[in-house]
Amino acid sequence: MAARVALELKGIERHYGQGETLLSILKGADFTLRSGETVALVAPSGTGKSTLLHIAGLLEKPDAGEVFVNGHSCAALSDDQRTGIRRGEIGFVYQFHHLLPEFTALENIMMPQLIGGLSRAEARERAAQLLDYMRIGHRADHRPSELSGGEQQRVAIARAVANAPLVLLADEPTGNLDPETAGYVFEALEALARQSGLAALIATHNHELAGLMDRRVTIEDGLVREME
Ligand code: ADP
Ligand code: MG
Repeated sequence: MAARVALELKGIERHYGQGETLLSILKGADFTLRSGETVALVAPSGTGKSTLLHIAGLLEKPDAGEVFVNGHSCAALSDDQRTGIRRGEIGFVYQFHHLLPEFTALENIMMPQLIGGLSRAEARERAAQLLDYMRIGHRADHRPSELSGGEQQRVAIARAVANAPLVLLADEPTGNLDPETAGYVFEALEALARQSGLAALIATHNHELAGLMDRRVTIEDGLVREME
């Protein structure tokens, strides 16, 4: 039996500007992501990868089309309801870590769990487990500025999965790292996604790393297309 559909994009359109300067980035894009599946989004700069990920992550609304998370359409939801789904079901990793500078690695990973209603003890335990899993347990009490780029991204990945989301979205998560660091951070991300049965969509320019994923898709003429 096929795994359930975690994320579905149907007929997504996104246009910027207006009149003669209208720029159509997405022109009816369809995409399906199943639980336990890892997919690389590989497309040149400016083709709409970030736009697609932001729409999938309910950070932006499409001009047309619908996003379904766990089978439920998000089109008619209020902002509060969208925020609730984003916090509970979706983990997002950016190219630059976006960690809170005043808090330690451990606290950054605890934060979404505390917002989600877990006790400090529960949040602390899961945060520590995730740091260990990412092999940076010894950095738990360091602030982001005291961490290397690879360590910062591993903390950001741990934070993204802290609430055990259904879907993990990552926007060129290793784009700022040197090749060797990018390799092991990406492998850690992929292993974590597999181990926790997440559905993951990860934008990357690195074809070698994209090869680790179950599927590869690209954006062409505003549509999502499967790659060979
Ligand atoms: P990618 O992530 O693949 O590099 P983006 O999704 O960031 O592509 O952007 C796709 C295109 O949309 C680019 O040409 C970009 O300049 C344009 N774009 C993105 N955001 C805006 C915006 N807020 N206003 C106007 N154009 C935008
Ligand atoms: Mg981008």
